[in-house]
Amino acid sequence: MTITEQFKTKRCVFSIECFPPKQTTQMDKLKDTLQKMQALTPGFISVTFGAGGSAGGVSTAEVADYIQNELHIPTLAHLICMGNDETCAAEILDQLEAVGVRDVLALRGDRSPARPESPDFRHASDPTSFIKWKKPNFSVHGACYPEGHPEADTLLHDVENLRIKQAAGAEHLLTQLFFDNMHFYRFLNLARRAGITLPVSAGVMPIVKRSQIERTVALSSASLPSDFTRMISRYQDDPASLYDAGIDYAVNQLRDLIEGGADGIHLYAMNDAAVAAKVYDGIRDLL
Ligand code: FAD
Repeated sequence: MTITEQFKTKRCVFSIECFPPKQTTQMDKLKDTLQKMQALTPGFISVTFGAGGSAGGVSTAEVADYIQNELHIPTLAHLICMGNDETCAAEILDQLEAVGVRDVLALRGDRSPARPESPDFRHASDPTSFIKWKKPNFSVHGACYPEGHPEADTLLHDVENLRIKQAAGAEHLLTQLFFDNMHFYRFLNLARRAGITLPVSAGVMPIVKRSQIERTVALSSASLPSDFTRMISRYQDDPASLYDAGIDYAVNQLRDLIEGGADGIHLYAMNDAAVAAKVYDGIRDLL
């Protein structure tokens, strides 16, 4: 079943994100991880773009090919337009089409001095329209931000911009990670009132290591609720307890989201099959 069909038929679509390895020699390790994740029967697996995904490492298309054709799991390939013009984007779309991948998460990408702005695409809605024009048989997905994109002046303004993404042809939205479900419910309420009718998958990342707090959490600009910061300060010098508490925290978040009616839940599993399996064990009865 395609990803779009799953959102029409399943109560809640469970999906997992992975990222391509920085070195080609690490591809076998990723394959092993993905095989373990296959046992969790995800509705789809998404593959990130950039940051090791394409610059010298294994490409997004290569990982997507493996998931789609060897594991037979619907695959969502991320594509950022920062640094890519129409010709580059068209080449990547051809590569994806050649391996049977038909779902693309169209993203603008983060601004960085290392990456030039795209001459052809300004916002994610631009590659969305481009993909729908170039490959009408592709399904395009988009990103959204329960706490607002860091560049947006207000959450409402950011939500209103999602209407442009929806009108450009996006079929489904995936959220940035968050640690307080209140932000997701408030965002969803605003989005529905603003006329966003697309299914929305809620993104959750289990925090099981101290290093993740400094790196990933800081990068995502997600706010940290007090029960989360209490967990971190209590277990920061006890790695085994932090691991268990981080899994519990994610499981509680996800159970609440499924029971609260989320169209989908997306696990930012950081290529860790053991973490994904533990989280899945805690929610499988609800899926
Ligand atoms: P946009 O939708 O273009 O939004 C960016 C800003 O522009 C927002 O403030 C928005 O309100 C505003 N805006 C949007 N459209 C308009 C418009 N038409 N007019 C005026 N303002 C507008 N990064 C990677 O490098 N690789 C990845 O694989 C990757 N995967 C991601 C997956 C998810 C689920 C998420 C949430 C993010 C991901 N990112 C990834 C990060 C992403 O590239 C950045 O967050 C980036 O800053 C914004 O991308 P976007 O597609 O949301 O941009």
